Amino acid sequence: MVSEILRPKTIGEAARLVVRPGTAVLGGGTWLNSGIAASDAAGAAPVTARSGSTPLALISLESLGLDFVEWRNAALRIGAMATFQQILDAPGVPEALRNAVAATSSRTLRTMVTVGGELGHCPADSVLIPVFAALDARVRIAGRSPLGIEEYRSARALGPVGLIVEVSASDADGPCAVASLFRTSHGRRSLVIAVSAARLHPEVSRVRIVASDCRGQVLRLADAEEALEGSPLPAKDRIEKLVRAAFWPTSDIHASTEYKRYLAGVYAADLLHALAGRQASS
Ligand SMILES: Cc1cc2nc3c(=O)[nH]c(=O)nc-3n(C[C@H](O)[C@H](O)[C@H](O)COP(=O)(O)OP(=O)(O)OC[C@H]3O[C@@H](n4cnc5c(N)ncnc54)[C@H](O)[C@@H]3O)c2cc1C
Repeated sequence: MVSEILRPKTIGEAARLVVRPGTAVLGGGTWLNSGIAASDAAGAAPVTARSGSTPLALISLESLGLDFVEWRNAALRIGAMATFQQILDAPGVPEALRNAVAATSSRTLRTMVTVGGELGHCPADSVLIPVFAALDARVRIAGRSPLGIEEYRSARALGPVGLIVEVSASDADGPCAVASLFRTSHGRRSLVIAVSAARLHPEVSRVRIVASDCRGQVLRLADAEEALEGSPLPAKDRIEKLVRAAFWPTSDIHASTEYKRYLAGVYAADLLHALAGRQASS
């Protein structure tokens, strides 16, 4: 039962409250206030139920000015309290990020769900997290050095990470795109592929291919990336083969492992070719 809402005035004060037993940071509250959170002790553990029970005190970040989406010193910075709808509405946000938040098709949810909540909860079928990974985004947590997305997910898997303050991406204005597989607009997703690069034409440079099976794997396909690096982008069937060789997704009720692998290759090849085509013609 929630008995108290704490409203810290500084990030330092909030960070001290976060480590107190029986507290949880309140983002948009869509997951935290759901019956699922109350009954899902395992899912709640990393950031909430420090005392092993439903949190008693919620820490509201409303006074900390963390609801920003801005470019500063050529880096895109998104505060932990920025909502999905704010990201969609902010000028200059890369298309891939806009598509990632728009994948939450309910505007009602988009106006509530925050970036801090998305990272705090880390839903397995997040579209935003693979895009952050493709953009080499860094997660700033109060009192710690910024973490890459992979490092952040590993740290979170081990236990509470603390107060998420913001996410930043220095190369967010380069080519980047995302595609996801879902049966219905409000249903769970089965596959997310995000790609980015410094350059795709005439040669590939600093390409990133991130695949999520929406069941816990969010992987950079390093072997596929390495094979593409430094040469002209190959034909789609070659990219498809490279991606399928590097990705072994877990199946779910909507998509088998083979179907996810097949589509992962198709999505990655289509996205990379579309981005390369755009670059070639610009
Ligand atoms: C009915 C329903 C429908 C949903 N539909 C979707 C959907 O369509 N798409 C989707 O992506 N998700 C969906 N979700 C899941 C949920 O909304 C997401 O996981 C969302 O990311 C949670 O964001 P929030 O801001 O509401 O987080 P909250 O519920 O406020 O918090 C989620 C977790 O993150 C922690 N947290 C929040 N902010 C911070 C911070 N700054 N630092 C550290 N920890 C923090 C909280 O303590 C909590 O453990 C749905 C959930 C429900 C209940």
